[in-house]
Amino acid sequence: MARKKDSSLAKATRWNNNYWIRDREPDKICVHHMAGKNTGVGCGNYFKHAGVSSNYGIGYKGDICQYVEEKYGAYAQGTKYWNKRCISIECANDGKAGYHVSKATIDACIELVADICQRHGWEKVTFTGDTKGRLIMHKYVANTTCPGPYLSTKFEYIAREVNKILDVSIFLPERGYFKLGDKSPQVKKLKAWLKKEGYFKGRNMNGTYSKAMVKAVKRFEKAHKLEQDGEWGKKCNAVYNEVR
Ligand SMILES: [Zn+2]
Repeated sequence: MARKKDSSLAKATRWNNNYWIRDREPDKICVHHMAGKNTGVGCGNYFKHAGVSSNYGIGYKGDICQYVEEKYGAYAQGTKYWNKRCISIECANDGKAGYHVSKATIDACIELVADICQRHGWEKVTFTGDTKGRLIMHKYVANTTCPGPYLSTKFEYIAREVNKILDVSIFLPERGYFKLGDKSPQVKKLKAWLKKEGYFKGRNMNGTYSKAMVKAVKRFEKAHKLEQDGEWGKKCNAVYNEVR
């Protein structure tokens, strides 16, 4: 079966077969560093013949490539148990002592982690300095120095920046969209934004997807040339993420 990109942030793919079929939903994001200065595609070409892998790789210019679908656990963390739990991301470094990672790579990593969280419904990313957090380092689960001294100091920053994005993200319910009658803190967040932007003209700012909310979403859909069904789903979210 054809493989499909998970993150639209991945501008290239280099698929390989170095993965486990997951028997559980992934619940961790493990960030690694590559063995030096490379592009996302270059790392993927290497993985095809290396017997190891990751779900994604980010090159030194911030270019993102996908190697293994998220539904599979890539051979990245060293053990079957952690490979099945993690979505893994490799980041390029400069290949010199200290393994400096470029700002472009770290910025892309923040975007990618936020995107993964949005799609998996993870409203916060936690970093606890051990395996309890959502965001973990390779060295927490294997005998390695990965992700290196420099990138290791950036995890708190990455988590903080990701959470800034997630705080203003709208997380959709299980069915994929909000409709009349729904009640959710996410609706409350969305309503406040629609009010600020002039689409919501109702008075009740609670978390209920009211008739006034349906009207507001229709105005938003009309303004952005979407089908005006008054329901807030993936297409509305995509526009929202662009314009907010
Ligand atoms: Zn690693």
